[in-house]
Amino acid sequence: AKAQGKGRHVLFEASMEAEVLDRLELEADLLRAVERHEIAVHYQPVIALDGETLAGFEVLARWNHPTRGLVPPPHFIPLAEDNGSIVALGRQVLRTACAQAVRWIDAFPSEERRIMSVNLSGRQLEDPGIVADVAGALADSGLPADALVLEITETVLMQDTEATIERLSALKALGVRLAVDDFGTGYSSLRYLRRFPIDILKMAKPFVDGLVDADDPDGRALARAIVDLAASLNLSCIAEGIEVGAQAEALRALGCGMGQGFHFARPMAPGDLEALLGDAGAAR
Ligand code: C2E
Ligand code: CA
Ligand code: CA
Repeated sequence: AKAQGKGRHVLFEASMEAEVLDRLELEADLLRAVERHEIAVHYQPVIALDGETLAGFEVLARWNHPTRGLVPPPHFIPLAEDNGSIVALGRQVLRTACAQAVRWIDAFPSEERRIMSVNLSGRQLEDPGIVADVAGALADSGLPADALVLEITETVLMQDTEATIERLSALKALGVRLAVDDFGTGYSSLRYLRRFPIDILKMAKPFVDGLVDADDPDGRALARAIVDLAASLNLSCIAEGIEVGAQAEALRALGCGMGQGFHFARPMAPGDLEALLGDAGAAR
């Protein structure tokens, strides 16, 4: 048994080493991926829960790696943040999304329901060029600024407040809307809501899960608290990770305006969205 244990240990070390090498290789590849246009963009529909009509999209990056195939964001976004390539990568995602949104604009049901939501990492927000990047993407595409939503996670809002307020205010001044991503998973959630010019709360998936979890009697109360908080601060609320109809139903009953999740639609390649958009356009 002892020998076996040692064997396992050696195996473990070998797999750690492979992981480190893997990471280094991916990091190096990533620097070239942006130039080679290997970063693809998928779109997940955001749904107005009242009536279940289309309200817009969240933009999600995918890396079309030449030998590894489609690499999901958790495997490369942290690396891109570490080596700084997130700035160029994010710029490309933003420009692609704005250009795409303009092509789809007739399919959006109304001006209020016209969301193209892009994730911004903290590293991008630290880059002084971000305001010019966003302004440039809007100007070059012709997308109305209020159609663009920038998603920022709570953890970013918790650090470096003065500089962050200044940067976010400059972005706001362009006319875009700001959303707090994964709301409820960080700390001191309530204080920063007053300090930053936020428009939208995105309720994190665990609260949506809690809505139909029989072992979680407080689940409904927590989701309700977030919906009510958004309403009392005059913010829109988008629930994330809705996987079953009962969750959508419960959120609608609580007064949550919008939602997204596999129950409605998975993130899709732009080509796969044409049919859906055709339907939405026809239904208008
Ligand atoms: P996120 O911003 O919280 O995005 C939502 C994630 O949940 C997406 O994963 C989406 O595919 C997934 N999702 C949507 N509906 C459901 C559902 O009903 N059930 C479950 N289990 N999952 C659902 P994805 O695409 O793998 O992205 C992961 C994270 O990577 C994102 O989390 C975001 O933080 C980051 N990310 C993705 N694209 C970008 C980007 O362009 N820039 C930056 N900075 N980060 C990005
Ligand atoms: Ca997001
Ligand atoms: Ca999220």
